[in-house]
Amino acid sequence: PAEFAGRTALVTGAASGIGLEVARRLAAAGASVVVADFNEAGARDVARELTESGGRAAAVKVDVTDPESVREAVESAVRTYGALHLAVNNAGIAGASAPTGEYAVEDWRRVIDTNLNGVFYSLRYELPHLIAAGGGAVVNMSSILGANGFAGSPAYSAAKHAVVGLTKTAAVEYASRGVRVNAVAPGFIDTPLLKGDAAQREQLVALHPQGRLGTAEEVAELTLFLLSDRASFVNGSYHLVDGGYAAR
Ligand code: NAD
Repeated sequence: PAEFAGRTALVTGAASGIGLEVARRLAAAGASVVVADFNEAGARDVARELTESGGRAAAVKVDVTDPESVREAVESAVRTYGALHLAVNNAGIAGASAPTGEYAVEDWRRVIDTNLNGVFYSLRYELPHLIAAGGGAVVNMSSILGANGFAGSPAYSAAKHAVVGLTKTAAVEYASRGVRVNAVAPGFIDTPLLKGDAAQREQLVALHPQGRLGTAEEVAELTLFLLSDRASFVNGSYHLVDGGYAAR
């Protein structure tokens, strides 16, 4: 039988980039996938694609900066498929670029609200259902900037570091109830999140010893491993998929 048959997975930010590839692979591996995104039309398109390729999927609109919206999305997943076993808290934004001493307070709040508070709200409402299902696995999408600074991205780096702390704490708290919680830390990945011209892109490429950006598929590969029973003793840790970025 398919590896994730009988499991329900909620993926936030699943209408694009990394979340989309994670959703595709989960559906192909037999999971029932709840495609959750702020972009409602995009989420519906993805759910349709997954269904047409023979998978089980449903779309739900969620704004991860709104705890009530997150609660409703989680409840809708449980209503639709009966339980929740897997969660990928992946929705995120790049935010504005400016040095810390010039960073607009509104931009700071927006990035923290999405990339940090959004992960907390997701865990807050997912965990009781994961426990009720008898256990499960969570991946929180951090970043290489969850362990490094990056000029111009104070809010993003702070949020991604904080996601690691949240990941470790939840892992310690819920291990005895069969829930594993890990963080994935991608290097720069070629998705719509990356803006910038060709010169800026070359600067990012140069940060990776492998001499290229990563792909969403490569991040999805690690994410699926961490969600699977093959990772049954992998818990509370920060997992790089960065083409050697952190090794420099
Ligand atoms: P993306 O822009 O391709 O996809 C992000 C998705 O999240 C979009 O579909 C967007 O609609 C959704 N989203 C944004 N705000 C939301 C909100 N408030 N509520 C619900 N959905 C929302 O980006 P991506 O590159 O696939 O990024 C996915 C995750 O990976 C993010 O957390 C990002 O920080 C992280 N990440 C990306 C990179 C990279 O270089 N692309 C590197 C490291 C980490």
